[in-house]
Amino acid sequence: MSSTTATAATPHGLSYVTPGHDSPWHTYLAQVDRVAPYLGELGRWAETLKRPKRALVVDVPIELDNGTIAHFEGFRVQHNLSRGPGKGGVRFHPDVTMEEVMALAAWMSIKNAAVNLPFGGAKGGIRVDPRQLSAKELERMTRRYTSEIGIIIGPQQDIPAPDVNTNAQVMAWMMDTYSMNTGSTATGVVTGKPVHLGGSLGRVKATGRGVFVTGREAARRTGLKLEGARMAVQGFGNVGSVAAELFVAAGAKLVAVQDHSGTVHAESGLDVAALLAHVKATGGVGGFRGGEALQAEEFWDVPTDILIPAALEGQITPARAQRLRTKLVLEGANGPTLPEADDILADRGILVVPDVICNAGGVTVSYFEWVQDFSSYFWTEEEINERLDHIMVTSLNKIWETADQHRITLRTATFAVACERILMVRRDRGLYP
Ligand code: GLU
Repeated sequence: MSSTTATAATPHGLSYVTPGHDSPWHTYLAQVDRVAPYLGELGRWAETLKRPKRALVVDVPIELDNGTIAHFEGFRVQHNLSRGPGKGGVRFHPDVTMEEVMALAAWMSIKNAAVNLPFGGAKGGIRVDPRQLSAKELERMTRRYTSEIGIIIGPQQDIPAPDVNTNAQVMAWMMDTYSMNTGSTATGVVTGKPVHLGGSLGRVKATGRGVFVTGREAARRTGLKLEGARMAVQGFGNVGSVAAELFVAAGAKLVAVQDHSGTVHAESGLDVAALLAHVKATGGVGGFRGGEALQAEEFWDVPTDILIPAALEGQITPARAQRLRTKLVLEGANGPTLPEADDILADRGILVVPDVICNAGGVTVSYFEWVQDFSSYFWTEEEINERLDHIMVTSLNKIWETADQHRITLRTATFAVACERILMVRRDRGLYP
């Protein structure tokens, strides 16, 4: 087949993707396109990264406590399985869409390859506001969703984990449902489980810890002192709050926090323990008395040394990128920076440690959990944190070298390292049939 025919045989775009540029999937495509010059002969296989291998849409009907029936949209996307089983979280959020889950699955492929885990990339989600459901309704919805995606998940196929608005209890229900359907307890089907049922020590804090480790290394390399560094965090859940705690323990000062409930600011530094207690009691940072409230948009004007977006996608827009007064952006969230904003930050000399390496600590300890489940031999928290630190530091070192070598951003360098690893396997496995 001539190369012209080969190109013509691959249509531009996917019929089920909305044209335009404002979805996370388009952000991902723009990021992947930037790697093309560094792929060499592997570029021949690059199209494989621009479409999910497999995408499942499921109906999730449940009976609500008041007797009515509600239907929710559920998704599980396996973006790439070349390097191993699918791996990635499940999120419950009212704004979840197929295209969002596709992007999140693709970022998992890149992330898992960037830290060299033997996994492909996958992600799931349900379009639901979990705050509107009772605990029993949440359990029924989780179990029905797990049953529906049960045809494509499994300890050797695809291993879900927590993400936005899902936690260890949700993972316990998923593990139990899958196990009931298959007839034996399969702890390795999900990670992020409670420790007493096959979970791993250190998993809950792993993502935040990884953000801290990559941030600490970036600060060291750029001569930014953590002692006295001013920090702002968007999203004060499992990722943002843990990262904030660790940076504060290293001497940094948390000057602003924003979440879905409000924005708080304190020039002298917010008390992280008191803020966490407030969030536990009220569900958000809004109304915290240990600082003054800001308007949501003012969050982006607070002068800082370190900014940690740890909430949702698309937060650092080109307009905000122009205004930001910070030195180091640590992407705790997946996809928080739009491609055009990335260019602006690079031009302004603001260093971005991208999501696909910065928040890889969570999936790295998920990998440890999966390995421990298979061997039924469990490690100490100290061992886990040490191994996590080692993987994050060596992975970041390689990415940094690649960035220096080609004079590219850390994001493009992470994509270059990861895409090379994925596409080498793709090439050597070959096309079936
Ligand atoms: N949801 C997390 C992420 O976005 C962790 C995924 C996992 O542990 O599989 O990386």
